[in-house]
Amino acid sequence: MPISQVIRNVRPLGAAAVDLVIEAGKIKAALPTGSADAKLSCLLDGQGQLVLPALVESHVHFDKTLWTRPWRPNTAGPTRNDRIRNEQVLLQDFGVPIAQRAGALIEHCIGRGSLYFRSHVDVQTVWGLRHVEAMLALRDQYKHLIDLQLVAFPQGGLLIQPGTAALMQEALEMGVDIVGGIDPAAIDRDPVRHLEALFEWAVRYDRGVDIHLHDPADLGRWEIERIADMTQACGLQGRVMISHAYCLGAFAPAELHGLADRLCELEISIMTCAPSHVTVPPVAMLRSRNVNVCSGSDGIRDAWSPMGNGDMLERAMLMAMRFGWSKDADLEMAFDIVSAGGARALGLQAYGLAPGCPANLLVLPAESLAAAVVDRSPRRAVISRGKIVARDGVFLSI
Ligand SMILES: [Zn+2]
Repeated sequence: MPISQVIRNVRPLGAAAVDLVIEAGKIKAALPTGSADAKLSCLLDGQGQLVLPALVESHVHFDKTLWTRPWRPNTAGPTRNDRIRNEQVLLQDFGVPIAQRAGALIEHCIGRGSLYFRSHVDVQTVWGLRHVEAMLALRDQYKHLIDLQLVAFPQGGLLIQPGTAALMQEALEMGVDIVGGIDPAAIDRDPVRHLEALFEWAVRYDRGVDIHLHDPADLGRWEIERIADMTQACGLQGRVMISHAYCLGAFAPAELHGLADRLCELEISIMTCAPSHVTVPPVAMLRSRNVNVCSGSDGIRDAWSPMGNGDMLERAMLMAMRFGWSKDADLEMAFDIVSAGGARALGLQAYGLAPGCPANLLVLPAESLAAAVVDRSPRRAVISRGKIVARDGVFLSI
């Protein structure tokens, strides 16, 4: 007979207080607060705090992080290729293993309330499959706590670096979840061949696709149209994500309605970190036409930038700031992007606060959902599959 526990007096997404009954790692019921069986053991007394579904980090690079290392001034040159080379030199013989840096960062992110992750993993000829091996081991190490999807990511280019295509396929054979790509035009100089390779592997290995696309304006838009064509031709609806898509910010939103409708129809998700220094996709328009939008931290404390703290509530706040959102409905949309939007993008089967969903929860003090995005309280309790895994924002060794 499974043992039930109860989280007392919490407000789901800011609604009226309930007692959440948890059984076998899942939400069993939400009852008006005070009405759950008094004999049930209390997992947590929420004292009227908010309860939210655990956050979804849809785009991160755990394998690159310098987390736990002393502050390191950024030494990269101005272009993307400068940054790629700078990182290759730094990480080639870095003394501290990926497991140590990325493992500590994963635990930190859990403490901030994220339990679902998609991490891009470098596949480069300079270091072969070393990053893939380390991240596969971490996926295994934390599988009792988190859902971690890995993307084979050809950071240095796919076609311009001979040997990378073979490594990509090897990574997929080793169990990496998603086929990754990067700037088919600006980096690889041959967008059709680049995209055809990704989609061919996606079909052959039965995987999704996630493409870093920084290519600008008309060029990037043309590539998105080709991605849509190939998604349709390969039957990969619901399994393709375009990360960054800066190009979509170069057009008046109304000019993109047709393309947005196509993305919606093909269930292609758009991921944006809402950066402040470049054009970004028109998130509100995309959402108004039912395009799924998710978000992520991208690099956290790495050779690309010292920024980032893995806090997806803060990412929601940064998105609101980027777009000048201040109404409660807009702040709630920002939260939806770092929660349900991410869940859709990652293809999660059961996500949320309904009975039957995994008891993957974030409990924190806030007056409302909108206030939670603005406040970003560090006093967070995190529950993974019915067990408390962080208190006051700090991961517990379990
Ligand atoms: Zn990235």
